[in-house]
Amino acid sequence: MDEKTLEDPLIEVRQLTKFYENGKTSIPVLRHVDLNIRQGEMVAVMGPSGSGKSTLLLILGLLLSPTGGTYQALGKDVLSLDPHAQALFRRSFVGFVFQACNLIEGSTVYENLELPLIYAGVGKKQRRERILELLERANMSHRIHHPAKLLSGGEQQRAAVVRALMNNPRVILADEPTGQLDRENGRIVMESFQKCAAQEGRAIVAVTHDPEVAAFCTRVCTLRDGTLLR
Ligand code: ADP
Ligand code: MG
Repeated sequence: MDEKTLEDPLIEVRQLTKFYENGKTSIPVLRHVDLNIRQGEMVAVMGPSGSGKSTLLLILGLLLSPTGGTYQALGKDVLSLDPHAQALFRRSFVGFVFQACNLIEGSTVYENLELPLIYAGVGKKQRRERILELLERANMSHRIHHPAKLLSGGEQQRAAVVRALMNNPRVILADEPTGQLDRENGRIVMESFQKCAAQEGRAIVAVTHDPEVAAFCTRVCTLRDGTLLR
């Protein structure tokens, strides 16, 4: 990676708008959002319920198309990619962590972590090595063959963070990642994000209501009625 690439934003969105069509009416959810996200940054997105936070995250994760505006990721115009190319890009660029229901409950931790690697076409031996390495780093090696449904809530979310890291993403998108955790587990999850940002140079975008979560971040953005305030 040359120096210029290091300084360039991972994500650059300009004048992003989103309308949800509802019968005859068109409801604006995001209005002219400009946002740059650089590697190593940890950005909290705050704002009242219904202000468009989850919508913004889905668009950044290429799971939802905006109505207007531009989105450059790693300098590439990702909105102009066809769906297949977008899916490939998404797989290596972003990892998602949601508030809950992150894991397949009927599967073991190992099987859950293996899935994104299988989709990415990684061979069995490398899958095993990657899973062992990341579980070790998350202090969760002892849970490797545990059924996901028998993990505590905190362990489930920590496993979900590990799963989001499986394909070595540049950006982690987290929607209220500590929303169902107690304080201690919330802290563990946020510290693991901090490590991803500070030591590994990933960017974290975390939607949250919780000022304690925002305090872990390097920057706080606030959405109000679809407008991004800073
Ligand atoms: P937040 O995450 O900040 O609570 P959302 O991005 O989920 O906000 O939603 C923003 C607004 O868009 C809300 O008014 C919500 O009802 C509406 N909305 C979200 N998803 C859809 C959808 N698929 N169709 C129509 N309206 C939606
Ligand atoms: Mg939401």
